[in-house]
This record gives sequence, C-alpha cells and structure tokens, in this order.
Amino acid sequence: MKKHNFYAGPSILSEYTIKNTAEGILNFANTGLSVLEVSHRSKEFQAVIDEATALVKEILGIPEGFSVLWLGGGASLQFCMMPYNFLAKKASFLDTGTWASNAIKEARLFGEVDVVASSKDANYTFIPRGWQVAADSDYFHYTTNNTIYGTEIRKDPEVACPLIADMSSDIFSREIDWSKYIAVYAGAQKNLAPAGVTIAIVRDDALGKVDRPIPTMLDYRTHIKKGSMFNTPPVLPIFSALQTLRYYKELGGLKELERRDLEKAGALYEAIDGSRLFKGTVTNAEDRSIMNVCFVMKPEYAELEKEFVDFCGERGIVGIKGHRSVGGFRASLYNALPLESVKVLIQAMKDFEAKH
Ligand SMILES: *Cc1c(COP(=O)(O)O)cnc(C)c1O
Repeated sequence: MKKHNFYAGPSILSEYTIKNTAEGILNFANTGLSVLEVSHRSKEFQAVIDEATALVKEILGIPEGFSVLWLGGGASLQFCMMPYNFLAKKASFLDTGTWASNAIKEARLFGEVDVVASSKDANYTFIPRGWQVAADSDYFHYTTNNTIYGTEIRKDPEVACPLIADMSSDIFSREIDWSKYIAVYAGAQKNLAPAGVTIAIVRDDALGKVDRPIPTMLDYRTHIKKGSMFNTPPVLPIFSALQTLRYYKELGGLKELERRDLEKAGALYEAIDGSRLFKGTVTNAEDRSIMNVCFVMKPEYAELEKEFVDFCGERGIVGIKGHRSVGGFRASLYNALPLESVKVLIQAMKDFEAKH
C-alpha cells in the first residue's frame, strides 16, 4: 500500500531525491564506486558540494558576502556555535518553543541574554506580539517555524539589530530578506536531506567581532576557509541534498514551493475548522504553521484519539501522532509531501467523522 508520510523529522523526501540517492549509492557519477566509498576530496565529490552550494545560493537568493557551510552536529550545535561566533556582549531572543528555548540556554553561556517575550505559559500556542528588541543587541534570534507546536513566523521581523534565524523546519518555503540577517541555519532532515548535515549561512563581515578564543571546529572561519572540507563532511547527506536542490530548481524555486505549501496547509486547516470532531491547537489563525499542522480531538471526543490514529494507519497514513508535549495529532506537510497525501488525510477525517 502507498504510504502517506507525515513524520515531523526525519521526514519525507521527494521520490527524485530517494531514487537519485539510491543510484549514487550503487554507482556514483559513473566512477564504478559508491558515493559511500569515495574520498570527499575526489573531484567528483568536489563537484557535488560546489553545485549544492551554488544551488542553495541561487534558490534562496543569497547575495554576495554570505558563505554557505555544510556542517555536522545538527541544528542543536548551531545553538552553541552562533553565540560563540556572534555574541560579543548581548543578544535578544524570542521564546516560541522547545528549540527556541534550547538556543537561549546555550547563548547564556556566552553573554547577556534578553528574552523579549515568551508564550511558554500558554504551552507555546501562539507567537507573542508587541515586544521590543534593544538596539544595542548584537543580534535578535528567533525560530521561524516551531516544529513541535505548529506556529510559524513567515515575515522577517523588523527590529533595530541584525537577525539570526533557526529555519530548520521551513527553509525553502519562503523568500528571505538577506539584508536583515547575519546568519540563518537549518538541520537538513526536514526540508532537504537525510539527517546528518546542517546548513549554516553566515555573513562574512559579521565574523571576527568577539574577543573569546573559539575552538577550531566551532569557528565558522575555519569552515569558510576550507570550503566545508576542514574535516570530512557528511558526504551522503550532502549528495542527497544536491538531488533535492536540483528538484526544487526544476519545480520553479521558492515561489512554486511556497504556492504548493500554502495550498496543502490551506486545505488541511479548512478541513479542521469545518470539522465536528477536530480542532486546531494554535490560538491565532495568523500564527499557524504551513509546515506542521497541529490539531486535537474536541474534548467531548477525546477518547477517539487512538482510534483515529489506527483508522489513518489502515489507509497508509503514517506519522500523524502529535509530539508528546502537545498531544493529539501533527501532520507535517514538508515540501516533498504531495497534495494527494493531504487529500487522503482529509478524506480519512471526513470518513471518521461520518462513522461517529
Ligand atoms: C528539528 C529541529 C531542531 C533540532 O535539530 P537537530 O538537527 O536534531 O539538532 C532545531 N530547531 C528546529 C526548528 C527543529 O525543527
């Protein structure tokens, strides 16, 4: 049976990505070797990382003056590397969820941290509004998409200092105004590639402004100087990312990706809002994520939760159980998920409602 993959991460990759990755594992660039067993310094792999880097720049519209790095350690290591390299005295943060608060915790090791607002008391069911960022902050850090709670900020904030964003779960779903940023980072395993590589995009002239010594591997300048080849980079995830990037370009880039994402999320939210059994968990409609749609059974139907997950399972729908800190359901609609899968989920919701 065809599976409809709604997992939050690692998550669905395009058929194009999977097929071409499989091919590269069997015979990489006609070398007669697997991409798993070649030197990262071979000219064939150099061509892979060069093309992948160029495509990230092209698709995201990254101007001159920024470097695109392919790093290990996940987005979680960036929670530490960002302040290590950019926090001289003080940084401001918006606390919109678990990942944002993990970033805050790490930054506190490096300097003064100003949390401008938090929706923690409301279990992160909305994006706080009406906050102010001090103009003397080195940067303002925020999480564009809160993967666990299903909220999202789709507009680059207007603040008096430079921005740093964790875009792990919604990169490649909207345009970015690079003039506002000194850095953006994203773990690959949601909208790009298998787990194991993280993209860090950093503004070159914003580096070198902190006094502290930085360990070699945690210093962005090391990786810029060596083209992400200071040590062995995650070869297979980068190869796989290249396939996804080619596919994104072929589709028509960010505009088309965003159009598809809005269409999928719009259809699912409409079904949730029109339902007798289900309701969304995010308080303000404008904060709703188009990547991770969180919903629950209305209280009077709460006991049907498990039955619905099983009901979906019978139709090939996997990965819709909500995160343990929210409960209910979470349908992740990453770029690779086809509209058809969303339609199958909506039909399952309707059929389940008819049954009850
Ligand atoms: C998944 C996720 C992370 C954690 O990524 P790792 O690569 O597992 O460290 C951080 N931030 C956001 C927004 C995420 O969705």
